[in-house]
Amino acid sequence: MKILLAALLASLTLFVPGAAADSTGAHRVLVILATWGPQPWTVDEVRRTVFDESDAFLRRSSFGLLSLQGDVTPWLAAYPGRPACPPPLHERVAPGLSEPPLAAARRAGYAPEAYDRVVYVVPRTECEWNAVGVGREALLNGIVSAWLVVHELGHTYGLAHARGSTCRAGVCRPDEYGDPFSPMGHGLVDFSAYEKVTVGWLRDVARVRRAGSFVIGRPDVLGAAPHALVVPTGSGEYWLEQRLDVQPPGLAVRVVEADVPDDDLAPPTRFRHDPTRTGKDVVGAGEVYRVPGSFTVRYDPVAEGRATVVFAWTDRVRPNRPVVVAPNRVRAGRAFRVAWRTADAGSGVASCVVRVDGRIAARVESGVSSAVIAGAKRGTLRVAVACTDRAGNPNRASIRLVRVVR
Ligand SMILES: [Zn+2]
Repeated sequence: MKILLAALLASLTLFVPGAAADSTGAHRVLVILATWGPQPWTVDEVRRTVFDESDAFLRRSSFGLLSLQGDVTPWLAAYPGRPACPPPLHERVAPGLSEPPLAAARRAGYAPEAYDRVVYVVPRTECEWNAVGVGREALLNGIVSAWLVVHELGHTYGLAHARGSTCRAGVCRPDEYGDPFSPMGHGLVDFSAYEKVTVGWLRDVARVRRAGSFVIGRPDVLGAAPHALVVPTGSGEYWLEQRLDVQPPGLAVRVVEADVPDDDLAPPTRFRHDPTRTGKDVVGAGEVYRVPGSFTVRYDPVAEGRATVVFAWTDRVRPNRPVVVAPNRVRAGRAFRVAWRTADAGSGVASCVVRVDGRIAARVESGVSSAVIAGAKRGTLRVAVACTDRAGNPNRASIRLVRVVR
């Protein structure tokens, strides 16, 4: 699919979309000011927004791994009139909006294909959205701000939205941009640890395997590892990170959501607002965050930007009993496959064991749901599958009888 898409796009444009997700280095950016008449910003205003403010934000957030430099064109007469809004593509900015500025830039002596990113800045078109960032291009539609530049470039580095919710009078609704701290939400504060790991600016996070006390650092200081505590559960992966750059400071909680198919971006996160019901966006010092039926964490800052996080599973519910598929009969000496399905909404399934006539034949980790059983002599085999969740709750084994024939 990727190759087909790349071939298709190569015939439409000089850009190579496969190179889009690079997110480190001294990126050369061409900013094309494209118009049919109006010129709402000066070249200098746009230059400051992209090459001072956005560049400074990205340098700081990436620990100097990514920076922006490049050129801003003068206003170019690109469109005959105010452009209509073409349907969006998710590989690139729609040609109806991008081809006229590219042609105008080439006529003016620029070589857009020589840059790592192209940003189109246009007066408000008929499109209702404010901006778009796909492949290696972004378009700002009648609004210029460092948040928009960083957000749309964030998409070109492979990041999805940092979601959250908006709550009014105790009623909460999903908000696509609801994360108050991440530029992939609405906060031009800093990228999250999850986002920094995704784009390759950070590596070291602590992953919980069992209950215990963990010492964590912070995601905005390169030396302060581990930069987050990651908790896998039956309802998604939780990322807990210490935010000492917001008011009030504390532990921010996000959950990684299901991947959005076909958008070529990492799975989005959802921010947990008011995690301890004290009116704050973070877990405060000495407070306990609870995911009912799954886990609790207690957060205690210690010296020099470090904190202890005491983690415990609170899942007391067994995983669902496995639904097992096995052949009714097999030939003697032939190996056969046993598959099963189970789930655990709390801590999640950790491992499963297959026993044949009481003896362990296979033991597999979370994510694997089948095993190959060695061939046996004639007779009847009693195949039992049992799984255990991360909190240690075992389910009752499901049993299938397999006749071994000649
Ligand atoms: Zn977006």
